[in-house]
Amino acid sequence: MKLRESNIRKLDQGVYDVLIVGGGINGAVSAAALSGKGARVALIDQRDFAGFTSQQSSNLAWGGIKYLESHDYGLVRKLCLSRNHLMRSYPSRVREIRFLSTIEKGFRFHPWFLWAGTWVYWLFGNGFTRIPRLLFKPTIRREEPAIAIENAAGGFEYSDAYLCDNDSRFVFQFVRSAMDRGCIAANYVESLGARRDGDLWIARARDVIDGKTFEIRSKVLINAAGPFVDEHNRRTGEQTEHHHLFSKGIHLIVPQITPNPRILAFFADDGRLFFVIPMGARTCIGTTDSRVESPFTEVTDEDRRFVLDNINKRLKLPRPLTRADIIAERCGVRPLVVKAKAEGNIRDWMQLSRKHEIDVNRGRAHLSIFGGKLTDCVNVGDEVAGIVSELGVDLPYPRYKWYGEPHPSVLEEYRHQAQLMNLDSYTFPGAMESLTSRLWRRYDEKALRLLEDIREDPRQAEVLIEGTEYRRCEIALATRQEMIVKLEDFLRRRSKIALVVRREDIRTAPGLMEA
Ligand SMILES: Cc1cc2nc3c(=O)[nH]c(=O)nc-3n(C[C@H](O)[C@H](O)[C@H](O)COP(=O)(O)OP(=O)(O)OC[C@H]3O[C@@H](n4cnc5c(N)ncnc54)[C@H](O)[C@@H]3O)c2cc1C
Repeated sequence: MKLRESNIRKLDQGVYDVLIVGGGINGAVSAAALSGKGARVALIDQRDFAGFTSQQSSNLAWGGIKYLESHDYGLVRKLCLSRNHLMRSYPSRVREIRFLSTIEKGFRFHPWFLWAGTWVYWLFGNGFTRIPRLLFKPTIRREEPAIAIENAAGGFEYSDAYLCDNDSRFVFQFVRSAMDRGCIAANYVESLGARRDGDLWIARARDVIDGKTFEIRSKVLINAAGPFVDEHNRRTGEQTEHHHLFSKGIHLIVPQITPNPRILAFFADDGRLFFVIPMGARTCIGTTDSRVESPFTEVTDEDRRFVLDNINKRLKLPRPLTRADIIAERCGVRPLVVKAKAEGNIRDWMQLSRKHEIDVNRGRAHLSIFGGKLTDCVNVGDEVAGIVSELGVDLPYPRYKWYGEPHPSVLEEYRHQAQLMNLDSYTFPGAMESLTSRLWRRYDEKALRLLEDIREDPRQAEVLIEGTEYRRCEIALATRQEMIVKLEDFLRRRSKIALVVRREDIRTAPGLMEA
């Protein structure tokens, strides 16, 4: 029986300590933390895991340098420390990257002032990353010829971190680690709402694929439904102090703009920071920030024009980017947390904080997770575990370290085996990284199994879809372990094929049928 079917059968059996509604980053880390510490956990998502907001981010684990301007120093300090913690815990998945920013003449801040700001930022991060640099025009021209510097007053460079794969895979890795520790998780299962019956929650759930409904019983209910937290609370009769407002953001993916592995940061015409982010053989450009009322959004012509115009003004490309260069688009809403009372008094939209809040109804053992960022995910997991324990759920392994890559000895053994079988002879010339690093980053200890598959049958190392680096053995592993229900789950979230290869090319790829 397949993993998902088997898990769905288990969902209506017995009483779980905790049911988590929503498998974006907040739900995934809650599941990983609680199951690692020994709770009996169920996790459901009405879409695929990370199938909503958590697949639309800028893929940055960052301290939020721009929040210095809104004087949100506490948040910046906290996010810088969270970023450092992620980089230390996930050395292959979360890596330091340089940001090169140019400032135009007449901009509201002089480059020297902003450069001083990057030192403050660096200190907020305890000097964990490489030091900032002030850049004059000749240096910018030499180091990054793609930048148009005619109108620049100068620039600077500083460090932050990025998720080397993509956000949705990063999230799925927490779901997978929760399942490895006993969590019963299923995608495409919707919560229709829950009622409190004595000391238990009884949630009504619907398998979105076959339409069957069933009940899930738990002592604690965690609402991690992202932009739908308020809606789910309405379904459940929960009142909360906080609510969500939505800010829409888009990214466009275009052919590679520069081979240099750094992010280019600019201030757009509306004064907001936007980025040119390397994505393998592609470049991702974004983002925007506009208030919307509904979580369901799409990229409009106006959005495309805004991003393309801004980028064409600031880069010196052989020819300007046009709509025809767009390979894929991303669009989502940031769920921003506000106090219910403050909602009517918001004067400056951009100044709204990006922090998270967890509202707890102790009497009914209910948690609602509002806001947050991928960067802060380990703190959210720890905080949720702390609250659940206070609510009386026994966590037999309270000190268990539920996050992070495996012990270095496992990596050493993996590298040794990879070397002995000459795995890197399968790396293409011109690949962004060696096959040894790629497989480890994506599968960590499970990559040992892939080595075994390739040793048994070298065809398993063949690339399945041209223009990507996905090997046949990865598809087999994904089918077994990654709960893929729809092709999109694999193409868009477990891998990033749908982001880097045009739709037409995917459709005609010979390996697609096999996938
Ligand atoms: C454009 C943009 C750029 C961003 N860039 C960054 C960045 O670079 N770095 C960073 O740290 N953060 C970034 N963020 C913020 C970050 O992506 C979000 O804060 C985060 O992904 C929200 O995660 P979540 O788990 O709360 O919500 P989601 O990821 O939306 O997860 C909620 C899940 O709940 C499920 N759900 C809803 N209702 C139900 C129900 N009734 N039953 C079952 N399941 C349900 C949904 O299907 C969904 O999968 C960005 C966000 C945007 C939009």
